[in-house]
Amino acid sequence: MSEVLLSARNLTKKFGGLAAVNDVSVDLWRQRIHCVIGPNGAGKSTLTNLLSGDLPPTSGSITLGAHEITTASPEQISRRGLGRSYQKTNIFLPFTVWENVRLAAQSRAAQQPFNPLRWLQSARADAAVNQRAEQALELAGLTARRDFIAGAASHGEQRQLEIAMTLATNPQVLLLDEPLAGMGVAEAERMVELLLRLKTHHAMMLVEHDIDAIFALADHLTVMVNGTVIASGEPAAIRADRSVQAAYLGE
Ligand code: ADP
Ligand code: MG
Repeated sequence: MSEVLLSARNLTKKFGGLAAVNDVSVDLWRQRIHCVIGPNGAGKSTLTNLLSGDLPPTSGSITLGAHEITTASPEQISRRGLGRSYQKTNIFLPFTVWENVRLAAQSRAAQQPFNPLRWLQSARADAAVNQRAEQALELAGLTARRDFIAGAASHGEQRQLEIAMTLATNPQVLLLDEPLAGMGVAEAERMVELLLRLKTHHAMMLVEHDIDAIFALADHLTVMVNGTVIASGEPAAIRADRSVQAAYLGE
């Protein structure tokens, strides 16, 4: 069994009387993709928001590496090595692909507390930021598109860009919310290849609807319905589970 990088235990998030996430536990392992599926409103995005610190849980706990992060801010969690993409895009459309990735890498650097010595060394820091951005661009397969205006890039390239921007923060754990949404077949295939490449370096949680992609990618599969986990385990076993078929897969 590979190393667990993120571990969430008994997470619950209530919005008024509604438990959007109800007693959910997940582990994310290095070099493994943990897919989370479920119908709209199942609580998948809320779970992602809990893990990234964008929402505080009502109860439960989260550890990232050796650190308890249950009540940490998104910035602190990012510095600890968790990167996420958003279902709604974060891209600055008038800027180039490169500028977007560079800004994402810079925002990570800017989160460091101000330090005059660091400021004096800013040229060196800039070089490190540039290098991180270059690596993210290449890993996401966008080097040839670096000078494109982001708003003129295709939908698939914009989703790749979002991942490059997430990679530019130098994460060990990646949370990706529906990276294949709205993609055609060729774009989806390219994204699946990209995600498989990322798996060699990262622990990943993937919220996705595309069943073919899920079974091509998932090392572990969790099925949520109405905030609750109804099944979690090996993808092949989940696929054969009749209660899952009835509740979600529609097979
Ligand atoms: P999914 O991503 O699986 O489609 P969500 O996590 O977005 O599901 O939503 C789960 C449930 O929580 C839904 O019933 C949704 O309406 C509700 N919900 C999500 N965010 C909020 C919020 N900020 N305030 C109130 N209810 C919310
Ligand atoms: Mg969602």
